[in-house]
Amino acid sequence: MQLTDAQRMVYTTAKRFAEREIRPQVRERASDECFPVDIMRKLADSGLLGGPFPEQYGGGGIDNVSYVLICEAIGGASPSVFTAALTVQLSLVGTAIYTFGTEGQRKDYLPELLSARRIGAFALSEPNVGSDPAAIELTAQCDRDDWVLNGSKFWISNGSIADVIVVFAQTEPGARHKGMAAFLVDGDSPGLERQVITEKLGLLASNTAALFFDSVRVSGDRLLGKAGDGFRIAQASLEGGRTSTAACAVGIIQACLDACIAYASQRKQWGKAIGRHQLIQEMVADIATDCEAARLLTVEAARVRDGGEPATKNVVMAKQFATEAAVRAARSAIALHGGVGYLGEYPIEALLRDAIGLSLYEGTTQIQKLILGRELLGMPAF
Ligand SMILES: Cc1cc2nc3c(=O)[nH]c(=O)nc-3n(C[C@H](O)[C@H](O)[C@H](O)COP(=O)(O)OP(=O)(O)OC[C@H]3O[C@@H](n4cnc5c(N)ncnc54)[C@H](O)[C@@H]3O)c2cc1C
Repeated sequence: MQLTDAQRMVYTTAKRFAEREIRPQVRERASDECFPVDIMRKLADSGLLGGPFPEQYGGGGIDNVSYVLICEAIGGASPSVFTAALTVQLSLVGTAIYTFGTEGQRKDYLPELLSARRIGAFALSEPNVGSDPAAIELTAQCDRDDWVLNGSKFWISNGSIADVIVVFAQTEPGARHKGMAAFLVDGDSPGLERQVITEKLGLLASNTAALFFDSVRVSGDRLLGKAGDGFRIAQASLEGGRTSTAACAVGIIQACLDACIAYASQRKQWGKAIGRHQLIQEMVADIATDCEAARLLTVEAARVRDGGEPATKNVVMAKQFATEAAVRAARSAIALHGGVGYLGEYPIEALLRDAIGLSLYEGTTQIQKLILGRELLGMPAF
């Protein structure tokens, strides 16, 4: 793949960081159900948390291609760290504030988020609402200079540890996307209760929470954009999130490939390395092909975003292909490792559980395909 020297350098730095600071602790932190915030601070100290945001807001000023290479390197070591520190903190929360915030909001929030002095969360999903976000039920009522929020959110990554939460609300019940608004809500706001969701299948070192809003008061200057902009804010932020999630999935496939090559060279059956058996070679060849295809789609989506062209088609193709390919790769990698692949001692079984999570969040595989269908056919099937 054609990359500039600067892009290669970013990838090498992120990969070194992942091997030194993240991979050795993955097992120990696997069942915390609470994101290790110290890792996010170290990412910031190493210059890996600035993302594509301008330097004047504490950003890294890198292009989107470099950013997805960071996501691949970090995500391949820990999809949980990727979820909390990159796709949520930067791609979703950072994009929402940078793209739709006032100058004051950008200056207040971005330097704090990009240095990990504050943790962000992005609260769109609700107990009754996932794939159809225009149906959100959490309401925001205008009361003089404030807004008053009532309702609940579910599945919110970083939800119980976040200092600032981008909360999507309905300002005109029944108006669907036309009434949606996004607010910057403090995590310790009176009337906001947060509960950690436990016993997820995977992404166990990431924090996921349910949020309950009981007349939570938000001052008018914490509205992002205008009332009615919420749906657009969600879509624009999710486009960034889906691109980064595709890159994390590439990291998972690469990790499976590396593990398979190492194990197939060392494990012997029938008097020879299992890598000499043709069906094992087929598995390795399939994982490698998926890895390359997923990486090409992801980097292309990032390139189109860098060029400022509409990228929806590229992004949803990359997200659905890469996350499903990651599930396939992890499933094959377990098969290739035989019984030990089923043990927590090897990293593969956790990657399978994590990859399934990536295929669900920021829109399921089915939703990515429906968006792609709409882009290709010019008619929605939702
Ligand atoms: C680990 C994890 C972290 C998450 N983090 C966040 C977060 O930080 N913030 C946030 O807001 N949300 C978050 N989510 C929620 C996630 O975005 C939703 O789970 C996802 O969008 C799907 O919504 P749902 O679970 O309500 O499923 P539903 O929308 O109820 O869908 C159920 C099934 O129906 C299918 N389906 C729905 N509509 C159609 C259709 N029109 N045609 C065909 N099939 C359809 C879906 O693909 C799925 O298979 C997270 C989820 C997980 C698992």
